[in-house]
Amino acid sequence: SSLFGHVEPAPKDPILGVTEAFLADPSPDKVNVGVVSPLILSPRSPSPNLAFCFLCLSEVTDGMGRCFCRRAPTGTTTASPSCSTACARPSAGSPATSTCQEYLPMGGSIKMIEESLKLAYGEDSEFIKDKRIAAVQALSGTGACRLFADFQKRFLPDSQIYIPTPTWSNHHNIWRDAQVPQKTFTYYHPESRGLDFAGLMNDIKNAPDGSFFLLHACAHNPTGVDPTEEQWREISHQFKVKKHFPFFDMAYQGFASGDPERDAKAIRIFLEDGHQIGCAQSYAKNMGLYGQRAGCLSILCEDEMQAVAVKSQLQQIARPMYSNPPVHGALVVSIILNDPELKSLWLKEVKGMADRIIGMRKALKENLEKLGSPLSWEHITNQIGMFCYSGMTPEQVDRLTNEYHIYMTRNGRISMAGVTTGNVAYLANAIHDVTK
Ligand code: PLP
Repeated sequence: SSLFGHVEPAPKDPILGVTEAFLADPSPDKVNVGVVSPLILSPRSPSPNLAFCFLCLSEVTDGMGRCFCRRAPTGTTTASPSCSTACARPSAGSPATSTCQEYLPMGGSIKMIEESLKLAYGEDSEFIKDKRIAAVQALSGTGACRLFADFQKRFLPDSQIYIPTPTWSNHHNIWRDAQVPQKTFTYYHPESRGLDFAGLMNDIKNAPDGSFFLLHACAHNPTGVDPTEEQWREISHQFKVKKHFPFFDMAYQGFASGDPERDAKAIRIFLEDGHQIGCAQSYAKNMGLYGQRAGCLSILCEDEMQAVAVKSQLQQIARPMYSNPPVHGALVVSIILNDPELKSLWLKEVKGMADRIIGMRKALKENLEKLGSPLSWEHITNQIGMFCYSGMTPEQVDRLTNEYHIYMTRNGRISMAGVTTGNVAYLANAIHDVTK
C-alpha cells in the first residue's frame, strides 16, 4: 500500500469551485457571478503599447492597470489609474532594480501599516499617536484573519470565536485550522432578507462574558446586509456590558457607501466606546490588488508596552509560516495612500466602483420587475456592498447553471461585480424563469 494511499481528494471549495466550473463551460452565453476575476472575465485586447504591470500582475495599456471591479458597463475593465500610476513611480521599484527584491521586515512594510491604520482607525486617531496598536502586514484579509486566529489560540487557548450565520465560508476554515472552537450567532433574517437584529442582540447577551466575536465591518459577505449606525451603537454598548472582544473583518472598505471613511463607522463607534478591538484589512477589492496579497492585521492594546509585546508575538507566529510578507502590493498601497493626489484619485475610483454596483442592483431589480416577476426584489437594492443575497434556493441556482450557464455559489449569492449592462437582462430573465 502506498504511503499516501489513504489521501482522499479534498472537497471542492464552495466559492472557488464555481470559477472552475465556469471556466470549463464552453457556452458563449456563460455568465460568472460567483467569484469574479478580471483575468477571467475581461477580454484582453491586443494593443501595440501593451505592457506588463509587474505590480498588478496584469496587462497595462495607456498606463492603465486592469483590476477586478474597475469594469466598464459592457464587461471590459476600465482604468485603475491610481494603481498604475503607483506602479510607474520609481519608488515602487521594478523587477530590474534591487530595491524591491529585498525582504520586508518580519512585520511587513512600516509605511503600509501606518497608512492602513489611518484608514481603519482614523487619520488623527489618538490610538495611533499613543502607539497602542500592534499591527503587521498580512497576506491580505485571509492571512490577517488566520494570524489573529493563531494568536487567539496561542494566548487565549480556552477561548472560542462567535461567527455570524451566514458568513464568508472561509471564516469557518480559518478558525477550524487554527483549532479555535466555533460558535455561531444569529445575523440574517431569511424572511425579510435583512438583519435579524433581535436575534443578534440575544445571542450577544447570551454568550459567556468576554467572548470573541467576528464582525464584518461593512458590506457583509454574503448577505449584503449591514446594521444601521444606531444598531451598531447598540451592539457596541452590549459588547461593553458583556466585555466581549470584537474582531472586525474589513475586506470591503469603501464598497458599502463608496467612501472608505464612512465604511469605517462601525469600527469608529466601537473605538469611541472604549473597546479594544482587532481588525483585518484587505486591499484585494478596494485597490484591485487580489493576487498581491496586501493586507494588515491590527490589535488595539491597552498601552504601548502591550502593543510592542503583541506585535512581536504576531511576527513570531508569521516567521515559521511565511517569514515575511510580499513587497509589491505593500509598495502600491503605501504609495497611493501616502500621496494626497493619488489618494484622492483612489477615493474617486472606489466611489466609481461602488456606484457602478449600485447601478447594476437597480438595473437587475428593474429588469425583474419588467418581466412581471410577482416576487419582491426590494432586497436587491436594499442590500449593499459587492453581493446580493438573492434568496434563491440551491436547486434554483443549479437550474441557472444547467439551463443558462450562469455560475454562482449555491447559497444564492450573486456577485454584483460580475453584472454588467451587457448581461443584466439575460441574468434577470434566467432568474425570473427559475423563480416563477
Ligand atoms: N473576508 C471576507 C468577508 C471576504 O469576503 C474575503 C474575500 O472574499 C476576505 C476576507 C479575504 O480576501 P483576501 O484574502 O483576498 O483579502
